[in-house]
Amino acid sequence: MSQSQTDSQPSISDLIVDVLRHRVGKDERAAKPHDWFHAAVLSVRDRIIDRWFESTRRTYEEEGKRVYYLSLEFLIGRLMRDALSNLDVTREMEAALREHGFDLAQLEELEPDAALGNGGLGRLAACFMESLASLDIPAYGYGIRYVNGMFRQRIDDGWQVELPETWLAHGNPWEFDRRESAYRVGFGGEVIEGNGGVVWHPAEQVEASAVDTPVVGWRGARVNTLRLWTAWALDPLRLDAFNAGDHAGALAEQVKADSLVRVLYPADNTPAGQELRLRQEYFFSSASIQDILRRHLQADKDVRNLPKMAAIQLNDTHPSVAVAELMRLLIDVHHLEFDEAWEVTKGTIGYTNHTLLPEALESWPLPLFERLLPRHMQIVYAINSRVLREARKAGMTGEQIAAISLIDEHGERRVRMANLAFVGAHSVNGVAALHTDLMKSTVFSDLHKLYPARINNKTNGVTPRRWLQQCNPGLTKVIREGIGDGFLDDAEKLAGLNALAGDAQFGERIAEVKRANKVALSNHIKQLMGVRLDPDALFDVQIKRIHEYKRQLLNLVETVALYDQIRSHPERDWVPRVKIFGGKAASSYHNAKLTIKLANDIARRVNSDPSVGGLLKVVFVPNYNVSFAERIIPAADLSEQISTAGMEASGTGNMKFALNGALTIGTLDGANIEIKDRVGDDNIVIFGMTADEVNETRSGGYNPRAIIEGNRELRQAVQAIASGVFSPDDRDRYKGLMGGLYDSDWFLVAADFDSYAQAQRAVDARWMDEAGWRKAAIHNIANVGWFSSDRTIGEYARDIWGVK
Ligand SMILES: *Cc1c(COP(=O)(O)O)cnc(C)c1O
Repeated sequence: MSQSQTDSQPSISDLIVDVLRHRVGKDERAAKPHDWFHAAVLSVRDRIIDRWFESTRRTYEEEGKRVYYLSLEFLIGRLMRDALSNLDVTREMEAALREHGFDLAQLEELEPDAALGNGGLGRLAACFMESLASLDIPAYGYGIRYVNGMFRQRIDDGWQVELPETWLAHGNPWEFDRRESAYRVGFGGEVIEGNGGVVWHPAEQVEASAVDTPVVGWRGARVNTLRLWTAWALDPLRLDAFNAGDHAGALAEQVKADSLVRVLYPADNTPAGQELRLRQEYFFSSASIQDILRRHLQADKDVRNLPKMAAIQLNDTHPSVAVAELMRLLIDVHHLEFDEAWEVTKGTIGYTNHTLLPEALESWPLPLFERLLPRHMQIVYAINSRVLREARKAGMTGEQIAAISLIDEHGERRVRMANLAFVGAHSVNGVAALHTDLMKSTVFSDLHKLYPARINNKTNGVTPRRWLQQCNPGLTKVIREGIGDGFLDDAEKLAGLNALAGDAQFGERIAEVKRANKVALSNHIKQLMGVRLDPDALFDVQIKRIHEYKRQLLNLVETVALYDQIRSHPERDWVPRVKIFGGKAASSYHNAKLTIKLANDIARRVNSDPSVGGLLKVVFVPNYNVSFAERIIPAADLSEQISTAGMEASGTGNMKFALNGALTIGTLDGANIEIKDRVGDDNIVIFGMTADEVNETRSGGYNPRAIIEGNRELRQAVQAIASGVFSPDDRDRYKGLMGGLYDSDWFLVAADFDSYAQAQRAVDARWMDEAGWRKAAIHNIANVGWFSSDRTIGEYARDIWGVK
């Protein structure tokens, strides 16, 4: 029985024309595809709203604990397929649209990607929101409603060009403006001691107002809220100034408020950019904490009960100023003593660390922090004095105390946001086993000694709804035919596929689905870029943010080496390969942008060289985002997870690929290690140094020049790139980039090259054994159900949040 019948709601088919006419305001004959798209969203949205109210009512009645997930990024992508699929009305919608001559798959393409994130961290937040709803846990996501979000990437002559993402241009049918849920957020000014305690008089204030998006769980289990803040000036139009002729000046306050919510990660290589970033972080943290306290006090007059009713999770250090904000509100507004406030704060907050890269551990120049947040500065000092006293009492050395301090005293003084989050949380978690171990032994080693019970591991996961069922319906169907439907509700039941791995007929069906997905991707790429791909070639994919530690450069150098080999030995039995790259480079990251250009230069040369005879093709897909990932991952044969060991905290792309039957070529880094443990050594290709070896190599006498000169393949590839073979229009373009490999090579491209190249030839050999490859692909799908974000969220709920 379909959902509509059980709920006795009108069918979508009856509803959609009515919605088109009366809510979109279009006649069927005049309606454009966009109007139908809107009508389709609004028709399904009505059902979501009913469940949303029901979920909220239930939580109030049960007086249950709520989870609050604070994140500067939510990389949610498109929402229509998610909503239809989780409510089990995809078929019904398809039929309804077909009656009017529309194809759901085509209309879906009209939905813009909500690109409110940059990469894995933001996508994790989106997967978590979906799993929280699926597990029926009452939760709110809190973030910023960026008007332009992450930039849209265009490739012009091989170079990345950044354009504003205009995802809201046609309105957003998923969101609800909640102007009544608004809070003031202050900046600057001064702190005055009065007899009633301390009072902060901010010099400026903006109003944060809520915009809510419903998040539907699997089978409609629950509908939670993603609450994103937008900013308003208290006085959006100064009419006196306007009437006096100062038309721009009259709007200045609103322009300033708008700039807070304009883009994700404004370039922070200028002081103004840094200040804007800190303002954004405080803006959304403050609004969220105020909202959480208001909701608590509605149900419970005693703010000291907050830890029983609320669990706040900080997704990385960006929201860590929330620690000081919660303390401020508890002390200054709710009049708790410092010690009491500290217990409430620690009892409520948990912190997830996502990176050990020193440049990514946020810290703010102390004068900036103090000028913008003078009261928070006092609170940070007070927390620091307490923590450092504890450290002293525990017998820690001066050096250890300096490492623990919330203030970095080396050179220009800075406030360490990761340390603030660490001390203000009862739980600090890493996102894969290796990463958590490294947290204990490196950046947080002294804090770990002081608070040994605090660090714990929660290996990341991805939602199998989006990353299997929705993005790969063909594979989902074959799996259902093979092992039944149990895996739809419990991804670990995919293990049933292990028994079918040796079944040639089943292997054939899996291979047919993969081929169909490769044909579909090839058609899309042909249309988008004019490049023709052979769907029978091995599709070798590296899609992720462009960063030196992720080592796209290692892959590119190996691609050039392979190109040389194919030309020198055309008589050998080469495996035809398509190398697919995609990803954005931070706008101020020179080497990352140059890497994109290099990929495109190599592609142009290789793809037009008749001597490789179609054995090698290289493409760099523009504007990699969630929707593009959903097309590419189901079509991948080989998943490139080749970061320098110890540098990728977890990765989640690695999980999505394995779930869709790609084999991984990867280092022993992040969650690759746990993927290997689950799929088995025979079903993954591991190469390169371990994290320990990386450490040793870096600390003593690493000589990349000697390695490059000692390896003919590597030397020739590096020299070809450096001498301009791929950049005849600018022969010196890659001199610096290749010079970096000779001189320092911090990311150990040279050190791992030989091992990587050998691993790639081992991949070729495996590919030649068709039956063996299919079997390994099935074992991958079968054994990565554990990487469902349902499992991850279940662990957070049990170990950190204390919710059922
Ligand atoms: C999963 C995902 C990521 C993370 O990929 P990694 O390979 O883990 O870095 C980044 N961007 C998008 C769009 C994704 O879907």
